Amino acid sequence: MHSVKFKHPEQAYIFPKLLDAVNRVCNDFQKDAECSAGYRSLDCQKATAKLVLAQNKGSYQLNDGSVYIGTGSNRRCLAAAYGKSNHCFCIAMDMNGWFEELTNCQLKKYGLVKPMSYEPWHVQLIEHTGISEEQKIAIRNSCLKGVNCTMNVKDFQSMTGLVNDGIPGPNTKCKAKEVLQVCQEILGHDFTNAEDIIKRTQSNPEYWLPKLKEIKYFDSFIVNIVKVLGCKDK
Ligand SMILES: [Zn+2]
Repeated sequence: MHSVKFKHPEQAYIFPKLLDAVNRVCNDFQKDAECSAGYRSLDCQKATAKLVLAQNKGSYQLNDGSVYIGTGSNRRCLAAAYGKSNHCFCIAMDMNGWFEELTNCQLKKYGLVKPMSYEPWHVQLIEHTGISEEQKIAIRNSCLKGVNCTMNVKDFQSMTGLVNDGIPGPNTKCKAKEVLQVCQEILGHDFTNAEDIIKRTQSNPEYWLPKLKEIKYFDSFIVNIVKVLGCKDK
């Protein structure tokens, strides 16, 4: 299996169909490929604009963050306005090396296109050509679901009224257990017995359920795992 590797792992939030298509190209050509730019956050876009400015003599930046070179009919966009690049919507990938040699004719059967002839590294899905910003935002929201929702120990301590020293000591651990119980109730993960656990967590419960009767202590084995992972007192 050949696949795409991300130069910057934090940029790997890509619309799944686009990522699949690029991986299929890798497989057919029997080569791995490198993605030098995938999803760009605003911070990342600002850094990119700065780099483009430094690397292109005579380039200039507009108020919206976009970077251009040349004037009049010779004017060329080197970096899109902040938040406007398709990289910000998880629907574009910059592919290094051999991928740059591929033509739109070759990419068509994968549903891919290089929309800008002067950027032979930039690929997108054909189906995303000309979609509205509203649609792009919906795609980005679906790709970034769950991302940036993390909380660090200090945030947790502040939120729960503890001393926020960032150290997960006994008080913090105790509070985390309390909160976890509530979270499990909210999410419906407050399992009560092995049968319930199997039915709600296994894709083929019919395989596992009879084992409860066949294997001694199998039910307590399962319940204990959940107790430990769920921090429930025995
Ligand atoms: Zn690009």
